[in-house]
Amino acid sequence: MRIITTERLPIKIWAREVEEGALEQARHLANHPYARHHIALMPDVHQGYGMPIGGVLATEGVIIPNAVGVDVGCGVRAVRTNQTVEAVRPRLRDILNQIQRAIPTGFNHHKKPQSSPLFHRAPDVPVIREELENARYQLGTLGGGNHFIEIQRDEQDYVWIMLHSGSRNFGKKVADYYNRLAINLNERYGPPVPREWQLAYLPLDTHEGQNYLAAMQYCLEFARENRAHMMKVILEICHSLLPDFTWGEELDVHHNYAFLEKHFGQQVMVHRKGAVRAVGDVIVPGSMGSPSYICRGLANPESFASCSHGAGRVMGRNEARRRIPVEKVIKEMQALGVELFKAKKGDLAEECRQAYKDIDQVMEDQRDLVEIKIKLRPLGVVKG
Ligand code: 5GP
Ligand code: MN
Ligand code: MN
Repeated sequence: MRIITTERLPIKIWAREVEEGALEQARHLANHPYARHHIALMPDVHQGYGMPIGGVLATEGVIIPNAVGVDVGCGVRAVRTNQTVEAVRPRLRDILNQIQRAIPTGFNHHKKPQSSPLFHRAPDVPVIREELENARYQLGTLGGGNHFIEIQRDEQDYVWIMLHSGSRNFGKKVADYYNRLAINLNERYGPPVPREWQLAYLPLDTHEGQNYLAAMQYCLEFARENRAHMMKVILEICHSLLPDFTWGEELDVHHNYAFLEKHFGQQVMVHRKGAVRAVGDVIVPGSMGSPSYICRGLANPESFASCSHGAGRVMGRNEARRRIPVEKVIKEMQALGVELFKAKKGDLAEECRQAYKDIDQVMEDQRDLVEIKIKLRPLGVVKG
């Protein structure tokens, strides 16, 4: 970890290199009037909207919608099964095929509303009221691009299932609504934050702040329920195709959220945008075709007890599409022996391994944040 200073708070950096755009955003965070103690940049840091992805920000008295991110509650869920690679291999393509048919990907949603106890206890705030009916069709859907379902193997040859998804369009509506509200209100509450920083905040002692907090927390529940719903479908498919199929405890982590925590003796709102709370078991996905990790979080106070949420991008989506042909990505997955299921391959290059940092280097860079427990390699992937 290295430290750079700014006019106000220091920035602590776990990444070897930080692109200029992300560094500039980190400087804005460090100079934000409500930021506290320091800014932490995880090894997978890269430029985001307002705040870099792979960033951790602690604030006092306010919450910043853009420091949570658009896909509120996006995260990863993983489970170990009792099956070996040998047992699963002959049915692997059938499993992936059925997953792809059962779980809507991209912009698709379910044709029928899904049920969940969650829908009977929604907070009574404007955007939730309006979007709740649509949300019923979005529960249990993967989304596009970076979202995935993977069948993996550990080093004992046991098969794992891992998936990455968030709060779908529901969370996006909440994020957009409250970011716009924050922008409109920021003129009213001093001190002002330059508009171009895109870090408009909502004071926690206002109606709007409390409503966003309630809406965000509900999106976290919705996102987790979304992942649980998909995992259930996948486990049922596996159960129907494999004799004696059972599984262990499901791990689940959010990587876009804010939570009130105590750090350096102070209650602060910790915003983790593309970062994970590194306490207990954590999941760190690599990228398409590369390894992923189950780790033990070391709760390092210097990172506000956080770690990276993955490998992180090195290439923007457009750049990846321009530079890497789709056929090359498909060939490479074949060479790696990874079954690739993707409905629309046009944007595949955006998600190739070369568009992300090297996960093993990222793990090396955060040895003081997490300890690796299990290394997982992909056998097959359904991409959004
Ligand atoms: P996000 O896109 O939510 O910011 O980050 C999710 C993380 O998941 C990325 O940083 C990347 O490291 C990882 N990731 C993206 N696509 C895949 C994939 O297909 N398989 C695995 N194992 N990880 C992925
Ligand atoms: Mn997401
Ligand atoms: Mn995500």
